[in-house]
Amino acid sequence: AHLERIEAVDSDLNAFITVTADDARATADAVDSARAAGKQLAPLAGVPVAVKDIAVTRGVQTTAGSTMLEGWVPPYDATLVTHLKQARLPILGKTNMDEFAMGSSTETSAYGITRNPWNLDRIPGGSGGGSSAAVAGFEAPLAIGTDTGGSIRQPASVTGTVGVKPTYGSVSRYGLIAMASSLDQAGPCTRTVEDAALLHDVIGGYDPKDSTSIRDGFGDFVAAARSKDVKGLRVGVIEQLEHDDFDPLVRARFEESLALLEEAGAEIVRVSCPNFEYALGAYYLIMPSEASSNLAKFDGMRFGLRVIPEDNPTAERVMAATRGEGFGAEVKRRILLGTYALSSGYYDAYYGSAQKVRTLVQRDFAAAYEKVDVLASPTAPTVAFPLGQKVDNPMTMYLNDIATIPANLAGVPGMSLPSGLAEDGLPAGIQFLAPALGDDRLYRVGGALEA
Ligand code: GLN
Repeated sequence: AHLERIEAVDSDLNAFITVTADDARATADAVDSARAAGKQLAPLAGVPVAVKDIAVTRGVQTTAGSTMLEGWVPPYDATLVTHLKQARLPILGKTNMDEFAMGSSTETSAYGITRNPWNLDRIPGGSGGGSSAAVAGFEAPLAIGTDTGGSIRQPASVTGTVGVKPTYGSVSRYGLIAMASSLDQAGPCTRTVEDAALLHDVIGGYDPKDSTSIRDGFGDFVAAARSKDVKGLRVGVIEQLEHDDFDPLVRARFEESLALLEEAGAEIVRVSCPNFEYALGAYYLIMPSEASSNLAKFDGMRFGLRVIPEDNPTAERVMAATRGEGFGAEVKRRILLGTYALSSGYYDAYYGSAQKVRTLVQRDFAAAYEKVDVLASPTAPTVAFPLGQKVDNPMTMYLNDIATIPANLAGVPGMSLPSGLAEDGLPAGIQFLAPALGDDRLYRVGGALEA
């Protein structure tokens, strides 16, 4: 049914870069046979999933939204893809994304823009707009995203879906094409909080192949999502994210959601995180610095594209020509920002200062979690904005991430879920943040709000 739906609507949405219909059918058939034979199967066996095209898939082209990787077929699976296969979720295909996950609108992909199923003239969010559009457009019941500065939560917010960025280190980064390694984290994109808990269970867990993988045990996500109980839970509203420049209807839906939680027995308090106002600036130094280093491997020698200039094709000129053609404008901008911030003489002023701000943001979180169990804010300042509105103005695009970025700087988990319809009848999102390893709290509060 989902493959038929993709066939019917993806020419409009362009949520998928690659559809793997045969593989998906084969897995579904194998699950049917196993079930008929009375075999014990994992809870999500047979439920299809779409995977952001940043996770490598054995034998299936993986592009990260870039011309640089067009036609590159990885010889191995990302750990989370291995988990999906072991749990026997049919993989429907690979979803569209901003090039190398840089963006908030899925407009920088080399494979065309993705449209928002709620309104085809609006952005689906980014960088993981393909995954969220696939879920919101009923092309897939479940999808995988990655969140470096909000790329799971902001697309969820603008497509009326649920998105979870787990605690840093709790879902393996092995086989995810790295953007900013100290910030990247993969997680579920779904239509309900319980679905997210179930999918989170499948993809998470310790992985010796990821040096930052966490060994600690976690709470029971599914039980937390089903408990619907927030009595006594202390919810802290981040004062610094009660911005006047957030859309008034987005703020109204946020306040209503808080009122519902209060009715259900939660305690709502205001908390101050004074260093959050510097988080965006620190992120846009740290992220490009790490990305510039991670993207150095795309040199025309090892992966994908190779452009050979006619005149004097030395190795250096091949690299320059390949990178010149293979990377889009936003990726080049960030490589320039990153190499500048890391360069000798500027390192202390830029990268070094940004790392200090990162520590201050972490301290704000630590202080807040002494007073409350979870933090809350609107996920994004506005509903889905029109396609083309911000793509030529990076500053306005970056400002969209103001509420989501602090969680990545601190490594803490976050969830976005719908708070209701705001401007132009489009969905708005509310975000909850919990302390590291406290992901079950997100499922508890999210499950209760959804109910
Ligand atoms: N929009 C943010 C950026 O462009 C976040 C991207 C992400 O989370 N991958 O950096």
